[in-house]
Amino acid sequence: MKKHNFSAGPSILPQEVLLKASTAIVDYNDSGLSLLEISHRSKDFVDIMEKARALVLELLGLEGKGYKALFLQGGASSQFLMIAMNLLEKRAGYLNTGSWSTKAIKEAEKLDDIYEVASSANANFNYIPKGYDIPEDYDYFHCTSNNTIFGTQLKEFPNSPVPMVCDMSSDIFSRVIDYSQFDLIYAGAQKNMGPAGTTLVVIKEDILGKVSRNIPSIMDYKKHIGAGSMFNTPPVFAVYTSMLTLEWLKEQGGIAAIEKENEKKARLMYSEIDLNPLFKGFASKEDRSDMNATFTLQNENLKETFEAMLKEAGISAVNGHRSVGGYRASMYNALPLDSVKALVEVMSELETKA
Ligand code: PMP
Repeated sequence: MKKHNFSAGPSILPQEVLLKASTAIVDYNDSGLSLLEISHRSKDFVDIMEKARALVLELLGLEGKGYKALFLQGGASSQFLMIAMNLLEKRAGYLNTGSWSTKAIKEAEKLDDIYEVASSANANFNYIPKGYDIPEDYDYFHCTSNNTIFGTQLKEFPNSPVPMVCDMSSDIFSRVIDYSQFDLIYAGAQKNMGPAGTTLVVIKEDILGKVSRNIPSIMDYKKHIGAGSMFNTPPVFAVYTSMLTLEWLKEQGGIAAIEKENEKKARLMYSEIDLNPLFKGFASKEDRSDMNATFTLQNENLKETFEAMLKEAGISAVNGHRSVGGYRASMYNALPLDSVKALVEVMSELETKA
């Protein structure tokens, strides 16, 4: 029986996507060959890559606006350095809202000067700093739209006077925002887009070519764009399964439709956290993430009972990250509302037992 999968990533994918992907591993489109044993230069695979790239721009509302979508490797983590390689000439500003922003800063600092425009490290990243300035002479501004570990999310983005770069690993394709306010968006696939193994980079082409450094080819966005996202052998399975997930999202009605579902799930989850006296939310209310709800149990003596009840109800992976403790319910696009209902039911049943 399928479990209620609240994993923070790699995470739940639509069941129909998993079925189609598994069929393609054995025999792709009745071709007599597995998707995994054909050339990435074959028409079959080039069509998959082109479709995936086009779907990204279509779903984000970025078609015809000077953007290119790339499916790269090395995870979102490799982008921490690659962004700086391609865009950092003198100084960039970073908003520090969690462990991933901190890591992004650390990598970029290896190349040049980074200025933290604001940070919520003083409160273990349980809120999003607001009201900071971004100087006009910076090369770019970097932020993380959703903080997977701490369960906070930027509800509004600053009006940046310099190109805006955003790590959207854990909330891309989940909500309606003006994606054209960003000049570069990146995301590891393994939450809302597909399996681990590929990283999406959406980039406005005209911000490239402005740094004086000699960029190694594999790190050069221009080279990847020129090669149609096939500068080297792409991760074919991850790209194909991402394409299937993007098709699924389009069939659901796109980002506007999935946003409504995501809001229902988050509302239900947070109302239980707020109303049930046994639990306490971690993130500051106005900055709570619709993707990852972080909370703790007020009475540690109930831990064993609660966890046994979760297991009994088929609820998987709600354990919190070690830097926050407690629990984390990740409610990505593919998680059904029924799974949140099942979790909330266990939480309220615990209240009747306590
Ligand atoms: N940024 C964010 C917001 C993340 O949640 C993660 C992974 N959970 C990363 C970056 C790192 O991604 P990867 O493991 O693909 O390098």
